[in-house]
Amino acid sequence: MRSISILGATGSVGEQTLDLIRRNRANWQVEALTANCSAQKLAAMAREFDARLAVVGDESCLGELREALAGTGIEAAAGLAALRDAASRPVDITVAAIVGCAGLGPTMAAIERGGTVALANKEALVSAGEVMTAAVERHGATLLPVDSEHNAIFQCLQGGKIEDVARITLTASGGPFRTWSQEQLEAATPAQAVAHPNWDMGAKISVDSATMMNKGLEYIEAHHLFPVGLERLRIIVHPQSVVHSMVEYRDHSTLAQLGPSDMRVPIASCLAWPDRMDVPLQPLDLAEIGELTFVAPDEHRFPATSLCREAIEAGGAAPAILNAANEVAVAAFLDGQIGFTRIPVMVEQTLTRYKAPAPQTLEDVLTVDSEARARAGELLETA
Ligand code: NAD
Ligand code: MG
Repeated sequence: MRSISILGATGSVGEQTLDLIRRNRANWQVEALTANCSAQKLAAMAREFDARLAVVGDESCLGELREALAGTGIEAAAGLAALRDAASRPVDITVAAIVGCAGLGPTMAAIERGGTVALANKEALVSAGEVMTAAVERHGATLLPVDSEHNAIFQCLQGGKIEDVARITLTASGGPFRTWSQEQLEAATPAQAVAHPNWDMGAKISVDSATMMNKGLEYIEAHHLFPVGLERLRIIVHPQSVVHSMVEYRDHSTLAQLGPSDMRVPIASCLAWPDRMDVPLQPLDLAEIGELTFVAPDEHRFPATSLCREAIEAGGAAPAILNAANEVAVAAFLDGQIGFTRIPVMVEQTLTRYKAPAPQTLEDVLTVDSEARARAGELLETA
């Protein structure tokens, strides 16, 4: 019997994690489940999985949560402090699957407990960078990457030593607009952006995937998880999403991880690590797929990856500023306030206008994040 808490349980990664647990109910004790609001959905999950605690980030949703959990004995709580408390309860594994920098505080609380954290919340690592990796080191925590590319790299690194790595290649699907012209991109709608050809994901990461910002954030994420040097990290577009990433060693042996494009594969790899578990999916049929293709990214139509590379090269507060500006821009795009191609422009403008000293603590990161959001918000007002 193993215990688990899921931060962001009502989201795409959270639900897929619970789907795996549902199939192995006898092996898992669910401690805490959290959401931003969605009180009814969270309560239904907490009841089904017999969780001890359910937490909503938004305090105005606590009444509804309490009502939905009445008579169950499941504790209910709300607010950021409650999310952090939930994350710091002792469990065998915490799945950090809140979207955006909003997940940073709770993810750090799980790390500070020194536990095993399955990290999906890439924005938290991008924003906090060394502040998070230093905390992992200091508290003896274990980070297991949920993101499919990083999970693939993590698996490929079992085949050699990190000192012997010549190159790490992150694969990118290219998103729903891979073959679109600049003119088409200018007219892209939120509905088109969230319809990803290979993966079924939350709205924010789907838009990031369409702008290629997701791959840029993943480049920064990979730099922190696998410190081989930026010159050894590259991105390649692979539209079939079958090869999830690759590690080339100095003898030119390249190890790749392949699998169905279903997040339950990397999630299961974290849940069972260092063992393996069954995942109820059709196995990969390479003969049916027939062809795997690879092409260099087009940074002219999709400038987000170069913005991310420049931000991590600059270091300090730049990645946190980039991430915050992107979150504001994506929300504005989803809300119909700005066009699709304005997203990377807003990120670049925020990075040009706002500089801050390198964050040393979690509080510093959160300060940079909120200041960068305010600056990006001003760009919206003047639009
Ligand atoms: P989602 O939007 O489907 O779910 C997000 C979850 O976070 C929900 O439970 C929501 O209630 C919660 N949440 C949102 N804002 C919050 C706030 N302010 N406070 C507390 N909780 C809040 O997102 P997702 O697609 O599941 O992605 C989650 C994370 O995993 C993201 O960082 C994403 O980049 C990463 N990721 C997702 C996938 C995928 O396939 N969905 C793949 C790789 C990585
Ligand atoms: Mg990914």
